[in-house]
Amino acid sequence: MTRLYLVEPQGIGTVEVESLSSYVVRLASTHCASIGLLLAAVESGNGGEDAAWIRTLPQVPIATFIRPNGTTRSLVEAIHRSTGISIPVLSSMTFLSTEQALRRSSNVFASHLRWCRECLREWSEQGAIPYLKLAWLLTDVTTCHIHHCEIVGTCAICDRRQSGHDLWPSVDICLYCGAPLSAAKPDEIRVQSWQPAAPELLSLIQFIAANPEITFPGAGAHRVTSALYNEALRAGHWEEFARSLPRCVYPKLIQHPNHPLTLGTVVELARALRMPLTDLLLGRVKETNVILPLRERALAPGVELNRRRRLGTREDMLAKVNAYLQQCPADRRPSLRATAMHLGISVGGLQHLLPAVAKEIVRANRQSRETQASDASRRLKERVTEIVSWGFPVSRKAMLRELLAEAQWSKNAIRAAIAFELDGERTA
Ligand SMILES: [Zn+2]
Ligand SMILES: [Zn+2]
Repeated sequence: MTRLYLVEPQGIGTVEVESLSSYVVRLASTHCASIGLLLAAVESGNGGEDAAWIRTLPQVPIATFIRPNGTTRSLVEAIHRSTGISIPVLSSMTFLSTEQALRRSSNVFASHLRWCRECLREWSEQGAIPYLKLAWLLTDVTTCHIHHCEIVGTCAICDRRQSGHDLWPSVDICLYCGAPLSAAKPDEIRVQSWQPAAPELLSLIQFIAANPEITFPGAGAHRVTSALYNEALRAGHWEEFARSLPRCVYPKLIQHPNHPLTLGTVVELARALRMPLTDLLLGRVKETNVILPLRERALAPGVELNRRRRLGTREDMLAKVNAYLQQCPADRRPSLRATAMHLGISVGGLQHLLPAVAKEIVRANRQSRETQASDASRRLKERVTEIVSWGFPVSRKAMLRELLAEAQWSKNAIRAAIAFELDGERTA
């Protein structure tokens, strides 16, 4: 088994946690090895198991070593075997803990390494060990939460991204021109933002770092959202609740526990629900979330809640629907649209509140219309037969006029019935 020198991962247990990508670079440069050589060395400690993953790595950007997937898991296991650092600690330098909860969210993760020049400059001045933080590899983290300056992805001197699998002199030195990555462009105007970029993502990183053993369950966001939805249903404001949810999750997430979610979507959902992202992913519902004033936010433009009548509870609505259905004639069942209009709600609203009842209304209406249509065509056929049976010649035109006057059938239906009666008889 290959044992490597112990290189201490930095920022463990905090929001400043080092990324596994950075750790791999530092491990390689400490051993004066290229990244390819280092990976081959850690893999040789694998006891002859299938190492297909390692052959794919030369094509994989170093920045992706933090994504929740099988390659990252294999890499964590191999580094664990070679360095003795525990799997949970190495996992907390990645987003592996979200593997079950989230679908691949490639647009959330940077495709290349990124850094804060000020952080690197400070460490260099203090003689501290330089490294690249996990947070810097999320594209939504656009500014440093300490220095409020921009997170950058290219060397200020040669303007190149740092993506080689070659031998790195140090993680804070440009691979191509040798300039410190903390260097700023001479004429650069520093962009500063006092608003923290993506605070939810930083708190997720902090949580993962502080709880390295954590694995977010598969259906946590579903559990929370359905519980809050049912609560809103009971409290009679489910429509406002539904409208406050991002369009990509409602109603699918409530109906399907395995509805795939990306990191970007759950951040949006946590904002809509006004709850910590970690609670959402863990499936924790707190009492306080249930009575959230879920209104005015995230409404589609032009939607005015006040114009719609409050629905009340499911039981109230059921009673109203039943009262309406009872007053409709047995042979003329109303359509779903007519029922919804009578109750002053949308068709979609009725379907969501009382799905089984809505289905039954649609079925009864269809049957009723079919029965009415077949009754009408039977009566038409009888009338035509009756007129023909009078035995004296009646022109088709006169027959058509006569039957149209009865205002029960369309002109085409009458013509077809006459043709069937007369021509059918002739050919018979
Ligand atoms: Zn910084
Ligand atoms: Zn450079």
